[in-house]
Amino acid sequence: EKAELQAYVERDAVTKDGFRIELAANIGTVEESASLLSQGAEAVGLYRTEFLFMGQSQMPDEETQYKAYREVAEAMKGRPVVIRTLDIGGDKELPYLDLPKEMNPFLGYRAIRLCLDRKELLHTQLRAILRAGVHGHVKIMFPMISGMEEWRQAKEIYEQVREQLSKEGIPYADSVELGIMIEIPSAALLASRFAKEVDFFSIGTNDLVQYTVAVDRMNEKVSYLYDYFHPAVIRLIKTVIDASVDAGKWTGMCGSMAGDPLAAPLLLGLGLHEWSMSASSLSKVKKVITDLNRSDCAALVEKILDMDTAAEVREALLAFQP
Ligand code: PEP
Ligand code: MG
Repeated sequence: EKAELQAYVERDAVTKDGFRIELAANIGTVEESASLLSQGAEAVGLYRTEFLFMGQSQMPDEETQYKAYREVAEAMKGRPVVIRTLDIGGDKELPYLDLPKEMNPFLGYRAIRLCLDRKELLHTQLRAILRAGVHGHVKIMFPMISGMEEWRQAKEIYEQVREQLSKEGIPYADSVELGIMIEIPSAALLASRFAKEVDFFSIGTNDLVQYTVAVDRMNEKVSYLYDYFHPAVIRLIKTVIDASVDAGKWTGMCGSMAGDPLAAPLLLGLGLHEWSMSASSLSKVKKVITDLNRSDCAALVEKILDMDTAAEVREALLAFQP
């Protein structure tokens, strides 16, 4: 089976009826980027930069960050690398930041909230990313956006950083695409507004599910309720993809749903453009995609949108034979 899957590494991720998707990988470290092209990834759809900040006694400086981002950009040889700005807080701690203990860390001071409060963090990171972008094709993505103000503030810091780099005569990547993660229902519901201003969306189902059905993604006691096939989650995903299509933008997904072969007909039918997953899932998902017709999947989605429960959706997906 391994040899069979290996055959898919070289193939494009295109359905039988010609719908092409971009198949991308999630990474957390520079080292992981080295073998991505040979594993069939066309891009990095999510670089979780927080791991560069964790397990250290102090904040990595601009130079350290620059080197890491540059190495990933170079390893991908001009293919896109979506670099997510620091997503700390929630379950991820940074001792040197002295973060407050919170009753509800996942609803608290994390990710973009923290970075917009301690702006120097975002400033330094964006400088490093833009400088690294000279050596490849980087895109920037902001995590945990809940409303338009946060996105606009982040964009403003990005503009300041560009201006500063220009003034200093330091080379940096121009015309970098800026996107936001959709992992909070409020952002999904406002997707048509965001779509006028951002270049792309990436749906983070790991958090989106947690916030939509109010289920802690780490709590085993309620994990039976945690399900990306929940009809409400599917409606949010559809809202986001439709909004991006209407505005001529693109939508990716970097939560674990994108790497689930069972979800593939649903995501294809909904028209998801970029799929980002752990490298080990790439061939499996590509095999499924190349075996499907998008038009069949769109018909399946019509039926799924009429279902009441995640169990029904799962059953329909299991029964679906292309
Ligand atoms: C997500 O929330 O789906 C996501 C990809 O981000 P993380 O898992 O890092 O929170
Ligand atoms: Mg997340």
